[in-house]
Amino acid sequence: MMKPQEKIVAPVALVEVKKKGVKCPELVRGFRDVLPEEQWFWNRVEEVARDITKSYGFGRIRLPVLEFATLFERSAGKDSDVVTKEMYVFEDPAGDRVALRPEGTAQVARAYIEHGMVNVPQPVKLWYIESFFRHDRPQFGRYRQLAQLGLEALGSAEPIIDAQVILMAHRFYRTLGVETIIHINSLGTPSSRRDYIVELVNYFRGHKNKLSELDKRRLQKNPLRLLDSKEPGMAELKGGAPQIVNYLDAESKAHFMKVLEYLDEAEVPYVLDPHLVRGLDYYTHTIFEAFVAEPKTEEMKGLALGGGGRYDGLVPMLGGRENTCAMGAGLGIDRTILAMKQAGVYQPSEEKKVDVFFCQLGDAARRKGLAVFEKMRAGGIVCAEAFGKGSLKAQLEIADKLKSKLTLILGQKEVLDGTVIIRDMDSGAQEIVDVTKVVGILARRLVAKTKLSLVEQTALDAENEENGIVVKKEEPKKEEKKVEAPARVEKKRKLFGRSR
Ligand code: AMP
Repeated sequence: MMKPQEKIVAPVALVEVKKKGVKCPELVRGFRDVLPEEQWFWNRVEEVARDITKSYGFGRIRLPVLEFATLFERSAGKDSDVVTKEMYVFEDPAGDRVALRPEGTAQVARAYIEHGMVNVPQPVKLWYIESFFRHDRPQFGRYRQLAQLGLEALGSAEPIIDAQVILMAHRFYRTLGVETIIHINSLGTPSSRRDYIVELVNYFRGHKNKLSELDKRRLQKNPLRLLDSKEPGMAELKGGAPQIVNYLDAESKAHFMKVLEYLDEAEVPYVLDPHLVRGLDYYTHTIFEAFVAEPKTEEMKGLALGGGGRYDGLVPMLGGRENTCAMGAGLGIDRTILAMKQAGVYQPSEEKKVDVFFCQLGDAARRKGLAVFEKMRAGGIVCAEAFGKGSLKAQLEIADKLKSKLTLILGQKEVLDGTVIIRDMDSGAQEIVDVTKVVGILARRLVAKTKLSLVEQTALDAENEENGIVVKKEEPKKEEKKVEAPARVEKKRKLFGRSR
């Protein structure tokens, strides 16, 4: 038979050995946790998003994380960065090629077609806040899981819709305390863009020896991307490149002019940016990106907070009705929060407002306490507890720190008697009450503590009397009678309408 000593020693040693050898798996590169202290920013962004989208009549859509990979391959374009190197694609257990969504517009277009939204009054205005996944190189403001507020208006070709979405983006940032400037350009129609691309390719071919290997590849596969190349020497080269606005057909030009007029009218600050192109094939006409107006750091300077544009061809391309025009935006939440912090938008110091702190003494009280606490919570009382602590002193210290107005104390004796003690944290006065009535009594005490009018106080006293509750009232301290200055007496008289 084993000696009792051996029984104890062996497991402890085993646990220790295990602990030393165990390594907790780390976060996957480019992914992160959002801890409680960050939540205020996320909640604030969501709150503003909800308000703005509601006032502009957008309805929320929640989108799935997984889609068939072909949805993005067909919509974004097979040569787009998203599809060629950033998409998380894998085969699911059934052998289907699926992808973690890299963006939301294609999903919304799919949903629009799938749910026959073409049959409801147009435009269909939808919004979402979702996470997207891109296997990009992680750096400041660039993560592999990113969140976006998406705004999509499908079923209208009107330039006012372009302006409305841009205006919403601008107001979203402004409400969050971030002033932005909109960079705007037009890509025209696919046919006017084709003419332009021919000219663009001719231009860069003439300078091929100055292009980096990456830009040479872009020249072959996706020449428009040369315009937002950050490779050395490209800034100068781009300066001499043909500009797309000069290749727009009359209709595209008129559309663009209208959008700018609307933005002027709505006082949205913008600059025309001839080098602005967007990474995805489906864009037509207006495209835009929002930047911090006065960035405080270099790294914030080139960082687009959000962007979007018109995508008139996308719904037809995915099999929807011809001529279903649409406009949308993806506003990056991670970067918006970075901008809020840089703009000095800080979380208001959230002093936890606690009405009642619950203290328990002993096992039975702890057990009973769970139910009492739940009753208070359900009754709308803001309450806190420290079930993990045993001593009354430690618990009262926490109650004090949280500035709770009242404390509820439940000990062994109270559990047996079916009572509980209410302690007023200001006066230190204590009363013993029936535990079944405690929520109502607490509510009344709390109301009383928020300075009642004479009538309310009289009503409360009467109610207490009816219920047989005797509240120990503090003797008012005897104060020296103040002599009022004549001017104040005069003012009071006027206020109460009395004449001398
Ligand atoms: P896009 O869908 O690429 O047009 O991006 C729209 C916005 O989403 C950008 O302006 C960023 O604010 C944000 N965004 C895009 N990619 C990332 C990323 N990898 N990490 C963080 N935010 C991103």
